[in-house]
Amino acid sequence: MKFQKKHLFSLLIILIIAISAISIASAYTGTGFSHNIPSSKYSDMSDSDILSKYSDTDCHVEEKAVCTNVVDGDTIYLDNGKKIRFVGVNTPERGVEGYITSKNFVQKLCLNKEVGIDIDNSKNNDRYGRTLAVVIVDGKNVNEMLLKEGLAEIMYMPPSEFYPYDWANGDTHVASSHSSSSSTHTATDDTSTSTSDSASYVGNANSGKFHEASCKSVSKMSEGNKVFFNTRDEAINQGYVPCQICNP
Ligand SMILES: [Zn+2]
Repeated sequence: MKFQKKHLFSLLIILIIAISAISIASAYTGTGFSHNIPSSKYSDMSDSDILSKYSDTDCHVEEKAVCTNVVDGDTIYLDNGKKIRFVGVNTPERGVEGYITSKNFVQKLCLNKEVGIDIDNSKNNDRYGRTLAVVIVDGKNVNEMLLKEGLAEIMYMPPSEFYPYDWANGDTHVASSHSSSSSTHTATDDTSTSTSDSASYVGNANSGKFHEASCKSVSKMSEGNKVFFNTRDEAINQGYVPCQICNP
């Protein structure tokens, strides 16, 4: 009898944890989103090359400040003390495939430059005290660019002044280098040709490291975290760093 009560109690605890996990998931946090756009795609492009592909945004610059730090593809710090969470979008977290590319993209456009922000009037801050805003560089909406480039997923969390589905689907490319409607989810798996049998290198989507297929770490890795690469370059381009034990 006592034993059963104890079980009921632990069940309750599990339920509470599950409910809080769900509410955290609905905040502006990681969703596990990933993409496999190589960072090399942008390495030969200047910020103005990228900006020239887009037309001016309808968003209004409400404040201007210099970007002093790029945390990842959807969070930057400004010299006015504000931490900005790009509203309406979500990019890969540290250690997740695509993290480096999305971060580099934002660095190229924003870091050490004066940027404009249009703060979400419906909800100014997220639960971490970050300012929810559209980031505007040279009159262009960077949040929208992240979606159109496939570097972010839509994260629409009403109430919001902004409707990111319009950014993803709207035709605001000046030179339509690729179809705007289908470009939002380019997370189709290019590496699907690399299987566990043929791949020479194995990455850990959790740690962001990659290994020789024969490395001891690979056998300890959980299957869900394994990412397979045929070449070393493939792994590097996707932002993985070499393991210091097997030195791939
Ligand atoms: Zn290793």
